[in-house]
This record gives sequence, C-alpha cells and structure tokens, in this order.
Amino acid sequence: MPKNYLSCNVMESIKTYSTLIETCAKGDAETSFLIIYTGGTFGMIMNETTGNYEPFHFENILQQIPELKQFKYKLEVVSFEKPIDSSDMLPLHWIKLSEIIEQNYDKHDGFLILHGTDTMAYSASALSFLLENLSKPVIFTGAQIPIGEIRTDAKDNLLSALEIASEKRYGTTLVPEVCIYFDKILLRGNRSKKFESSHFDAFKSENYPKLAEAGVRIEFKHDLILKANNKPLVARKKMCENVVILKLFPGITEAYVRGICELPNLEGLVIETYGSGNAPSVDWFRDVLLELKRKNVVVVNVSQCDEGTIVQDRYATSRVFSHTNVIGGKDITLEAAITKLMY
Ligand code: ASP
Repeated sequence: MPKNYLSCNVMESIKTYSTLIETCAKGDAETSFLIIYTGGTFGMIMNETTGNYEPFHFENILQQIPELKQFKYKLEVVSFEKPIDSSDMLPLHWIKLSEIIEQNYDKHDGFLILHGTDTMAYSASALSFLLENLSKPVIFTGAQIPIGEIRTDAKDNLLSALEIASEKRYGTTLVPEVCIYFDKILLRGNRSKKFESSHFDAFKSENYPKLAEAGVRIEFKHDLILKANNKPLVARKKMCENVVILKLFPGITEAYVRGICELPNLEGLVIETYGSGNAPSVDWFRDVLLELKRKNVVVVNVSQCDEGTIVQDRYATSRVFSHTNVIGGKDITLEAAITKLMY
C-alpha cells in the first residue's frame, strides 16, 4: 500500500466507548438509532476556571434532553473517548465513522453523527462518498449553543434529526442518504456549506434545494431525495492525503503557486478560481498546469462563488484549463471537491 493512502486499522487509533439508552420500556422500541458523538459545541460545557468551552462526555443525554423519553427509540451512543472540536477532524476520523457505520449497519434503522459545525460540511461530503449503496439515513447535526445552556439549539436539532431519520414510507426510510440537519432544514451533505458562525442558520446549500423543512410538519421533497437501492452497503476506508487546495487572488505570485503545485507526491489539486472558472492569463500559470498534466496530477476547477457553475472556455481567461486537462467542477462545493479527490 503506498504510504500516501490513509487506510489502517483505525479502530486502534481513535478510541470510542458505547452506551445503550432506552427511551421507552424495553421491548416497546419501534426504531433503533446509532448516535455517534464526535464532539463540537453540541456537547460543550464551560470550564469555569479558563472561561473556555470544553467537550463533555455524552452519557447523560436523557437528563439533558428528557423529551427523548417520548419517543419509542432504542439509542446506542458511540462516543469518541476524546471528543474533538471539528477543527481537529482528519480523514482518519472519516474512515473511523465509515467503519463504525459499517459494523453497526444491520443493527440500526438510522445513524446520527453529532459533530462540530466548523468542518461538518467536509465530513458529510466525505461520508457521502465513503458510504456506497446507502439504504438508511446518515444525518449530521450539531449546535451553535451548547446543550447545557437555556437557549441551546442542540435539543431541537437532535430531536428533529431523529424524527426525520425515523420517517418511513411503505416500510422504507424517506432519506437514505448522508445529510445535514440544522435549524429546521435538511440538506444533502455534499451540497452543504457552513455560511454563518453567529446565527442559528449555520448551513446553506446554494446549488441544490433543501431536502426537507421542519415547520409545524416536516415537509419532505420526495422527488429530490436519493432513492435507496438494494445493493449491500460498501463502506470505503481509504483516502488519499496528497491533495491540496490552491485559492487564487489578485497578485498571486509564481513562487506561491509553485510552492503548492510542486509539493512532492502531489496527486490532486483543487483550484478555487474566479467567477465561472477564470484565472490569470500569464504564461507561468499555464506552464505550471502543463507540468501538473505531465505528472498526471488530477486538477479540479472550482469557483470562489458559492452560487453558479464553472464554464471553462466562456472567457479567454479560462481557456488554459481546457488545454491542460483540468476538470471543470461545475457547481460542486469546495468541501465536496477536496473530499472527493481524497476518496
Ligand atoms: N468549533 C466548533 C466545532 O466545529 C464549533 C461548533 O461546534 O459549532 O467543533
């Protein structure tokens, strides 16, 4: 195995522990969920000494959210032994999540991943690629205010995400895909972006409509949601680390671009370009792209605009990409592009 591919017995390296929670009398449970608690604001508590938020341990969920007892659910919670701020999330953690879901797939009707908001869109994108042939919901959620605080959004996000994941039609789940549920909306995971760090509506999906909205009732957009297939789940557990992002800006220098594009063992590059996929028309930029082409580095052109799509060749300033085998990323998000390259 080339050393640049992450794939290992990750069970060894990221420790977890699991707790069983019956929200109703034993035997009455109608639906069974696995909740994977990775960390993030959701479960943070204030350290009185330092004044900083720190992760707490997730066993006492029923004390924090007694409303859970109204559901007929069996909840198994797998917690990271050391919950992390999602800024510390690594591809190794995504492989771990893929592995946990695979090992528990037959036991549960759905999977909830409690995750910090900062990199949730990257993780949801990665899992959407790693988990092939999903026929059960995998829903990421989190919170902007920790669970212990009065105005927390953690409760609503968790309860609604569970309710969405438990919805079935003719015995089949309504959302057999990797999604983000946050502040009343359900979004496709690999179409989502974190847009907002102060308000509750942290996520948007500019280039694909919402899959569901939780108002008085939960309205599902059935025709927009992926359909489950009957093939067995394939949980991939390998990601390439040798991929990077290059963001263009006016005044970007050859030395800077070469510093990134000449990294040893580079296998994939996402270039964040201007508008519909445009870049400086200087010769050195074309030369760098030609060298990448010679080295078989996969290069994807993604826009700095959140809405709209890449159209290579619309302007003379994007012609260089067609001549150098650069893939136009259409309306893909940066988060999906980089994780798809890793995958
Ligand atoms: N820094 C936190 C994290 O991403 C923020 C959050 O959870 O919303 O883990």
